[in-house]
Amino acid sequence: MSMFEDIPVDVGVVYEGERIRRKDMYVELGGPKVDHKFELVRVRKLEEVEDGKIEIIGPDLNELEEGKSYPFGILVEVAGKQLEEDLEGVIERRIHEYCNYIEGFMHLNQRYDIWLRLSKKSYNKGLNSFVYIGKVLQRLFKSELPIIEKIQITFITDPGKVKELWQEAMKIYEARDARARGLKDEEVDVFYGCSLCQSFAPTHVCVITPQRYSNCGAISWFDGRAAARVDPKGPLFAIEKGECLDPIKGEYSGVNKAIKEKSLGAITRVWLYTAFGYPHTSCGCFEAVAFYIPEVDGFGIVHRGFKGVTVNGLRFSTLADSTAGGRQIDGFHGISIEYMRSPKFLQADGGWKRVVWLPSELKERVKDFIPKDVVNKVATEKDATNIEELKRFLKEKGHPVVERWKEEVAVEEEVREEAVAEAPVTGEAVLSIPEGIPVTIGGFRIVMKNVRIRAKKAIIRRGEKGGKERR
Ligand code: SF4
Repeated sequence: MSMFEDIPVDVGVVYEGERIRRKDMYVELGGPKVDHKFELVRVRKLEEVEDGKIEIIGPDLNELEEGKSYPFGILVEVAGKQLEEDLEGVIERRIHEYCNYIEGFMHLNQRYDIWLRLSKKSYNKGLNSFVYIGKVLQRLFKSELPIIEKIQITFITDPGKVKELWQEAMKIYEARDARARGLKDEEVDVFYGCSLCQSFAPTHVCVITPQRYSNCGAISWFDGRAAARVDPKGPLFAIEKGECLDPIKGEYSGVNKAIKEKSLGAITRVWLYTAFGYPHTSCGCFEAVAFYIPEVDGFGIVHRGFKGVTVNGLRFSTLADSTAGGRQIDGFHGISIEYMRSPKFLQADGGWKRVVWLPSELKERVKDFIPKDVVNKVATEKDATNIEELKRFLKEKGHPVVERWKEEVAVEEEVREEAVAEAPVTGEAVLSIPEGIPVTIGGFRIVMKNVRIRAKKAIIRRGEKGGKERR
């Protein structure tokens, strides 16, 4: 008998990466429309877990109204003689993977950002209770991670209870992250890699170092180490650092080698501490995006939870689309919030001295890690809602990027304003413009005659229709 014969829909790796559009969804659990959502794994004592128990606090799937979004929590409690608290983060990340094995059930993101959808098709096939989802998760967890001896799962849809447990979960995530602080990249010989998101972004591999937390913010270097130890064939693996080729940009021979192998040759070099050149790839479940703002030569940062419009007129979702997909895109960089607390944060680009804007909620979360001489010079949506206001704010406060403006050649600035990254072209690019073709830059019409432009890097972008959103 198959492991999932009593489940009304199919279960398998083949469903990973399946997207469920709004028009096809039965209900949405968590996601951007609700404030409180979480998933949490806790390691308990053997006697504290009732193996196989599935509890639902609040309405079950068949009691939820079609087409609506609901606050949601998943609490997975596990026990086993070899299980340690260090493994909680890694086990928790598997919820994403296993939920996505279920036909017509989509899981995105992690921790307090989870976003799930059930399709109408699967609901109509009979997937109308969390009990089925709980059974699938329990069986997959026990078969893939045999160190889990007992497992019980609680699904929460009662809004009050979700909020209460969400508050607790936030404290637990913070304690986990704090545990991983303090260790330096220079002090270890091994980093960890994670390829769990390759089902969504086939060329993406996270490189997790003590000072560069995974993009999803769910896996620290300690988590990576614990996972690689208990499940060596799993998606987390050790990376021998090898030779340090550039300590500022963060290039290591061992990392390049591992990434090349795991991305099947698509990515050959990675610079860990910069958003330019060969930046770390971004899958799709990063917690935040650092985006270059050419007009001020600085970075804006926006996190997934920010519902407004950023200072350059774009929302998180638009910026995330430009960033995701396992590509290396100059100036668009998927990051975790914990990485923003690291001394290596965008080190090669100037770190916090190059950050000019971020939502106030995010600033509040990381403010203790922003250098004291910069913290009041970084704008939020309360200080600047567009580029002009931002420029004024930065000048007024004497933000360190203002110094950079003076150094820049005027022509270079004008060209930057017209061009924004979509796909980097590396190597030498030669652009030949035939006689008489007019080019418009910064309001000037320039007619070139047999011009050849040589550049180390060309950044080319298709213009937006209607000119509403402009990068
Ligand atoms: S974002 Fe990175 S670390 Fe997190 S699950 Fe995906 S590949 Fe793994």
